[in-house]
Amino acid sequence: MSTYPEPPAAASADRPVHGSPCPRCAVPLTDDPRFLVWCPACDWNLVPDEDAAPGPTRRERAAAARTDRLYEEQAAGGHSPTARRDWLLASAAAGVIHLVTVGTFALALWLLITGTVVQRCVGAVVLVIAVTLRPRLGRLPKDVGVLDRAGAPALYGLADRVAAEVGARPVDVIQVTDEFNASYGLVGLRRRSVLRIGLPLWEVLDDRERTALLGHEFGHRVNGDRRRSFWLYSAVSALWAWYDMARPGHDGPVAGRDEVSMLVRLGAVFGRLVLRGVAWVLYQGLVLFDRLTSRAGQQAEYHSDVLAGRVAGGEAARGMLAALLLPGSVDTAIHRVRAEERGRPRIGRSRSRRTEDAPAPPAPDLLWERVREHLASVPAVERERLLRLSARDRSAVDGSHPPTHLRIALAARAGDGDAAVTVTAAESASITAELAPHRARIAAELLAG
Ligand SMILES: [Zn+2]
Ligand SMILES: [Zn+2]
Repeated sequence: MSTYPEPPAAASADRPVHGSPCPRCAVPLTDDPRFLVWCPACDWNLVPDEDAAPGPTRRERAAAARTDRLYEEQAAGGHSPTARRDWLLASAAAGVIHLVTVGTFALALWLLITGTVVQRCVGAVVLVIAVTLRPRLGRLPKDVGVLDRAGAPALYGLADRVAAEVGARPVDVIQVTDEFNASYGLVGLRRRSVLRIGLPLWEVLDDRERTALLGHEFGHRVNGDRRRSFWLYSAVSALWAWYDMARPGHDGPVAGRDEVSMLVRLGAVFGRLVLRGVAWVLYQGLVLFDRLTSRAGQQAEYHSDVLAGRVAGGEAARGMLAALLLPGSVDTAIHRVRAEERGRPRIGRSRSRRTEDAPAPPAPDLLWERVREHLASVPAVERERLLRLSARDRSAVDGSHPPTHLRIALAARAGDGDAAVTVTAAESASITAELAPHRARIAAELLAG
């Protein structure tokens, strides 16, 4: 049985009209003029101009079929039988990449130590190449948005409780970003943990949903996601570094006018062709890694969602996942406030132009209040449309996660257990106070954008 509804056989050419009956099945249509008009009964106009859009490619159809299969395996409570085989293949491929890296370093050192003067020069060049091609393991963020334990004891305290509940080590660094997302990763040789919390997402969640979000992110530490293992992660990051060096767009213009430079140009064109070929091979390698690890990766994501439900309760986990469908609504609210701020009367009506041009500073929390108001006003029928769209195009927060509607469906199967970690009103207020400077800074940046 297919998980997804089939696209309609023939889309109607009728123009959508709010509040009128559906041209296909005659049920009354949605009447909120802020949102696209569509029919929840028969999916009419769910995807406007669907007929004009190109259909999915073979690769996309195959990926969607894999996603469906994996969901059904997960829903049946089983594990994917091929995940282990894929993992072994990916590990072997990672081994080849590490061998190339180590081999290049070894060659450079051998030439530098035992070679003649010329060989040592070659060795130096090889060493530079080896350093350039090394895997990138990331670094602890030190820049803007980083919170330290002394400055944010309540947030770190909540994070530690969530981490302990899922069986993860306490996080090393929390960073606040301006993205509608959150992430957890390990960086550097010492594999220190970094939790990134996107404030636009954090601000639209309630306390329980925030706890669920932390539960999902800390789940990444314990969910057996082998994409994040040192062996595989460092190999893929090395492959990305190689691909970045070789990919098209990195070659500059070929200058020169006379016949001698004609030879140089021919050489450069040949070099570019070779580089393009190398880039293509490296890209296929990256695609292969993605193929081999996405199954185990998606399985791990589902497991993280189960942990989110255990930490914060099933309802909160589903609420957090449902919010992931709303980045467009958050953008709309931000644009609206930005437009209003620009149209607001200016302060300081003095003779100085400079003072006249300065906009009145918005209340620090105005943006976040308006975003929350806007999201609360999104009607159920629009939320349903976003959910069905996510089912239709298998959209995910990013390529690394399963489609949001499948995550919600699986979280719903896990039921509504009690929350293992709860947040008191005092704790919530402390966290809000700790984040206040970042809330003001990020609001100002988003409004200036
Ligand atoms: Zn209809
Ligand atoms: Zn995740």
